[in-house]
Amino acid sequence: MNTQFKEYNLDKRIIQAILDCGYLSCTEIQRQSLPLLLEGKNCLIQSKTGSGKTAAFCIPLIEAIDFDDPTSALILAPTRELAQQIQHEFNRLAIYKKINCVCLIGRQDFQKQALQLKQKAHVIVGTPGRVFDHLESNNINMDNIKTLILDEANEMVTLGLLEQVETIVADLPEHKTWLFSATMDSELLLSKLNVNDANIITIDSPLEISNQIDTYHIKTNDKENVLLDICTHCKIESMCVFVNTREDTKKITMLLQKQKYLCSILHGGMEQKERTQSLAKFKQGKTRILVSTDIAARGIDVDQITTVVHYDCPLTIDSYIHRSGRTGRKDEQGTSITLISKDDTSSIKNQILDETEAFIIPSETVDNHLNKSVHKEDKDSTFNSKNTHLFIRAGKKDKIRNLDVVGALCSLEQFNSDNIGIIDIQQNYTTVTLLNIDQSQIEDLQAVKIKGKNRKVELKIK
Ligand code: ADP
Ligand code: MG
Repeated sequence: MNTQFKEYNLDKRIIQAILDCGYLSCTEIQRQSLPLLLEGKNCLIQSKTGSGKTAAFCIPLIEAIDFDDPTSALILAPTRELAQQIQHEFNRLAIYKKINCVCLIGRQDFQKQALQLKQKAHVIVGTPGRVFDHLESNNINMDNIKTLILDEANEMVTLGLLEQVETIVADLPEHKTWLFSATMDSELLLSKLNVNDANIITIDSPLEISNQIDTYHIKTNDKENVLLDICTHCKIESMCVFVNTREDTKKITMLLQKQKYLCSILHGGMEQKERTQSLAKFKQGKTRILVSTDIAARGIDVDQITTVVHYDCPLTIDSYIHRSGRTGRKDEQGTSITLISKDDTSSIKNQILDETEAFIIPSETVDNHLNKSVHKEDKDSTFNSKNTHLFIRAGKKDKIRNLDVVGALCSLEQFNSDNIGIIDIQQNYTTVTLLNIDQSQIEDLQAVKIKGKNRKVELKIK
């Protein structure tokens, strides 16, 4: 059924942002969940990977929050990359309504996050560990939180994060709970979180892989050569190779780099900055293969991954589904191949052997040019490049407030309130996201008078 977003009577600024994202109609899960979420019901929502669950919770959240509201929602995600991705999708959809989402994840500057929490932090997204640390430091005011969202909810259980989640939830005032996942052990989670009236929406049966993904296995005791054969005999746009240990990500990356293939590596032992950069390169097509532990399996959304190789047999069905779900996203078709050797000890090895076809590597060679980058639109960076930022050399120490900035800019003929996006006031400086502005009109702008003084400004195009 083709349902348009405008049928939900959403704020027109959200509709505009949805159109900017290129979403013409609702995905099935959005169609089924939006009415309940907009009504503020407790919900447990389960649908296949890549079906648009992020927007399904971001849109009703943005609809419910007004600019003047305090921190009103908390989103917990099991991995740092997923939390960042949610923040990006949220900010893309919230840009015209100017609702801000702050991301709290480990291995990033704690004090900077604390400062961001003091600004407009309408919504917080983060990993349980870092959110907990900020709570302990009294950096988050949870008094007005009305919505708790757990993305990839059952992963919280698998990764042993449930206890931390429970501790955080215990401090929340009365709120509604929305749980999202592609696989779900619902009973346990709902009872742990004291939700007893959840509306359950299930679109696919939990253990099923999307039918847009063709699943195969290859029995082999020479995985390295089989992987290289896949690279030269199967048509590949981009590929994810999953292994079970950090050490193996390095080994396989080296193997592929020897062939001059462009690879990104991702594992939990890397510094966050390296992780972000490595993933960004893959998202932008600068690298063609991502070699990763399960960290990258959850929620990460990259266009045109044609192929997923489970170099090591996944250890759980959940992991299998999520790794495979990196391909076949939106309306694309994808291939998932599990390599199985006699040494694999995974308990789901036989199930995969039984339920998937044997893959026969084609005999002819395909030149995939995996040593060359391709151009992909990384939605995260396109979003930034569409925006211009005004950098003002004045901040908290000059007692600048949001209103002062808005007032000062609107008094100039180049600006009106529609041009002003998120205002981020730091100690010594302020950045303002400018919307729909013709850069040539403001190129000459050197200073803005705020609180009686001329403040130097610079334009930054991120
Ligand atoms: P999930 O969380 O279900 O795995 P995501 O929220 O990551 O899926 O969304 C998958 C992709 O679909 C993203 O690239 C997102 O931008 C896109 N998407 C979301 N909603 C729509 C829509 N209504 N129309 C088209 N694309 C959409
Ligand atoms: Mg998701």
